[in-house]
Amino acid sequence: MSSSDTKLNDLCVDLCKLGNISDEELFKQPPPAEDCPICFVRLPSLRKATIYQTCCGKVICSGCFYAPVYDNQGNEVDNKKCPFCRVSRPTSDEEGNKRQKKRIEAGDAEAIFMIGCDYRNGTKGYPQDYRKALELWYRAGELGCSEAYHNIGYAYDLGTGVEIDKKKAAHYYELAAIRGDEVSRYNLALDEKTAGNIQRALKHLMIAVRGGDGPSLKEIQILYSDGRVTKDDYTKALRLYQAYLGEIKSRQRDKAAADNEGNRYY
Ligand SMILES: [Zn+2]
Ligand SMILES: [Zn+2]
Repeated sequence: MSSSDTKLNDLCVDLCKLGNISDEELFKQPPPAEDCPICFVRLPSLRKATIYQTCCGKVICSGCFYAPVYDNQGNEVDNKKCPFCRVSRPTSDEEGNKRQKKRIEAGDAEAIFMIGCDYRNGTKGYPQDYRKALELWYRAGELGCSEAYHNIGYAYDLGTGVEIDKKKAAHYYELAAIRGDEVSRYNLALDEKTAGNIQRALKHLMIAVRGGDGPSLKEIQILYSDGRVTKDDYTKALRLYQAYLGEIKSRQRDKAAADNEGNRYY
């Protein structure tokens, strides 16, 4: 048995030790995502609308990352620096990896999560290794990265690098959801819907919508048109989503999204 097998077994043991998550814990609205450290506007829940900086470990919004930079004469300059700490962006994967390693040594959950993704994908010079990815995500999850728990849940859901185990998948989705991962919460809602537990599904969906999850809003609309939730429920969901938009929208982010569809943030 390799050391990674042992660690993965430990991971499963830990899971058993964790026990059940109470409904009170599960259905609590997670705290909102933190603000962008430059514009101080709440970060959007769509991950593609934020950029992680390996220099300082900050997560910056697309609006700030793509904002034009001008010289003293007011001419736009080709800026290749981190908008937060002003360190030049890495020019190669090697340099980026070196920086990432430093962040990992500093216990940066986001960096550990991302290197896990590189092992899953076999990118940036890392060999494809699902087990290594799972170990790294587990560590990142423990350090507070909700998406890392989501990815472990997803691996158990689909049997990527592990045997399919729907119970474990649900458990990791729950761990992710209570830490603010809306995609995991949406998955939990669909499970509840399939099981016929519409009220539990709705509870999950409402929380996810308040957290900015568009597909959850769409799901409530479907449940409403099927006559399975009330008009009041649907109206409330629309209001919650508007409240979310009110917190994340900015002119700078709108501009980044208008310039490039890849920066769409809601
Ligand atoms: Zn910003
Ligand atoms: Zn930086």
